[in-house]
Amino acid sequence: MTTVLKNSAFDPSAIVDAVRSVLPESRPLPLHEPEFIGREWEYVKDCLDTGWVSSVGSYVDRFEQLVADASGTRFGIACVNGTGALHIALVAAGVERDDEVLVQALTFVASCNAVYHAGAVPHFVDSEGETLGLDPDALDAYLEGIAEIRGGAAYNRKTGRRISAVVPMHVFGHPIRMDRLVEVAARWHLALVEDAAESLGSTRDGRLMGSGGLLAAVSFNGNKTITTGGGGAVVTNDEALAKRLKHLTTTAKLPHRWAFDHDEIGYNYRLPNLNAALGCAQFEMLPQFLSEKRALAERYRAAFATVPDAEFFGQPEGCVSNYWLNVVMVPDRAAREALLEALNADGIQARPCWTPMHELSFNGECPRASLSVTEELVDRIVNLPSSPKLGRQG
Ligand SMILES: *Cc1c(COP(=O)(O)O)cnc(C)c1O
Repeated sequence: MTTVLKNSAFDPSAIVDAVRSVLPESRPLPLHEPEFIGREWEYVKDCLDTGWVSSVGSYVDRFEQLVADASGTRFGIACVNGTGALHIALVAAGVERDDEVLVQALTFVASCNAVYHAGAVPHFVDSEGETLGLDPDALDAYLEGIAEIRGGAAYNRKTGRRISAVVPMHVFGHPIRMDRLVEVAARWHLALVEDAAESLGSTRDGRLMGSGGLLAAVSFNGNKTITTGGGGAVVTNDEALAKRLKHLTTTAKLPHRWAFDHDEIGYNYRLPNLNAALGCAQFEMLPQFLSEKRALAERYRAAFATVPDAEFFGQPEGCVSNYWLNVVMVPDRAAREALLEALNADGIQARPCWTPMHELSFNGECPRASLSVTEELVDRIVNLPSSPKLGRQG
């Protein structure tokens, strides 16, 4: 590390000082901590007291309505986790074995794992610098070069496989250009399934993420803006799809007072009532958490304004981001490593972006577009502590 610092013009100390000026003095400072300061104990105790701890219960129904409301959709289907939600959403969207599904390379591994779970092959596409997420114009131009429409479906001319869906992800809560992607998806007959795991409450032009496509998956893992311990949901405006998803996630059991009959191979992807109860209490905190997270982001922005070689990543034009994880951009990979070293040595948990999907060993054979923007972004991104309480006044 010393050699890197010595040979490089980059000195992380001004950035470290700026980060310290925003954060409290307590250490360690985790990247994103769950917080239970509402009615969590009350609702969870209610499950234990009444015995409704498992896969059905009134908190599940309430939770499904709350996630739909927070996503601007008519329906919500609770799920065991965000990965399962994305998997089952792809299945419901009509993704079939040996299809290709377009996924941005700059994402968490769950986005592409869900594609494999559906029996399909991820096909990686690039991000744009303004949003960090999928670039719809680059996608359109790329498909122009490699795909053709036959019988109402897009096919990859090189591999011969059908391309059936596109999965954008709103990185760290920053909305991609959904309106444009809706057009591109329609032009190429692609099902648009959002990975909205990180973007609960984020909007573009006043429209909530999760509501722009056919289906979207949300996550309530412990490190997300609000949590059910582990959990997820699919949201949609399509009533028939919502019914099908509820059926598929609950073992495809036919409703009957005592008979156990199933009409297809289903999944046990239900969210227990116990977790849903936690989620209902967390949803009551969501408006407060969102405003605290935005206050924290403002403080980071102000602190970095005068620091050379540090660029705070602010919400894209027309967007209100939830700032799930705050980002500071540094000039290059060496600077990123020097800053990560310095912050973590001080007990401030900072992280690089994920290894991009096309660099993971098991994705070596996957088709891909040019990923030059992704590769540059990965070298420059550093995530900073982003818990709601860090933005709380007093
Ligand atoms: C958190 C996350 C998921 C889902 O994660 P689970 O842990 O399965 O709930 C999916 N995609 C992205 C981009 C995520 O950040």
